[in-house]
Amino acid sequence: MRTVLLGAPGSGKGTQGVVLSKKYDIPQVSTGDLLRAAVSAGSELGQKAKTAMDAGALVSDDIVIGLIKERLAEDDAKNGYILDGFPRNIAQAEALDSMLAELNQPLQGVILLDVAFDELLQRLTGRRTCKDCGAIYNIHLSPAKVEGHCDACNGELFQRADDNEETIGNRLNVYQDQTAPLIDFYTKQNKLHSVAGVGDVDEIAQAVSAVFDTL
Ligand code: AMP
Repeated sequence: MRTVLLGAPGSGKGTQGVVLSKKYDIPQVSTGDLLRAAVSAGSELGQKAKTAMDAGALVSDDIVIGLIKERLAEDDAKNGYILDGFPRNIAQAEALDSMLAELNQPLQGVILLDVAFDELLQRLTGRRTCKDCGAIYNIHLSPAKVEGHCDACNGELFQRADDNEETIGNRLNVYQDQTAPLIDFYTKQNKLHSVAGVGDVDEIAQAVSAVFDTL
């Protein structure tokens, strides 16, 4: 199943990606995670990406398209994948389409996680991530049982560097200007399915799974 999870920062792509990846046994491929790993490793690519990420701007198309090409060529992606955070603009979507057309393996569906703007702000400012297992919490909406520690593995919870108010504002503007036009792009291809991204995580996962099962 070759799919894209589309949605604003904070719409739940990461959370849903983890759940769906387990359920369908296909990898969740997050360009944000790949870039953060490159930044932590201190690679040349990571150093180039860091300035844009810290500002909440998009990293250059060349870098992210290169990362995606390499990642999708790995063995575990041969039965499909869930793209999370890619594509983020029309140029990336077109590059993805031509990459997949060459392989004769077009995207099968794009799921939009639809969340109102006010809710996005609360989710992003309150988001905390486990540094060991990647589980995501929210200090306002879904806090860990013991503050600062993961319920699942007791790992330390941290706030992403780009989850501060100034950067969040930029990221939401970038979404509006550059990523939201993909809704129209994929609607025209007849591939867009919209799911309300509010409420219980499991209920949203069920709604997304219901779409996956039709693809
Ligand atoms: P995310 O984890 O998806 O919220 O991404 C975090 C940051 O990584 C974004 O604010 C961008 O700076 C960068 N990034 C992630 N995916 C992309 C992409 N497809 N194109 C450009 N920049 C990206």
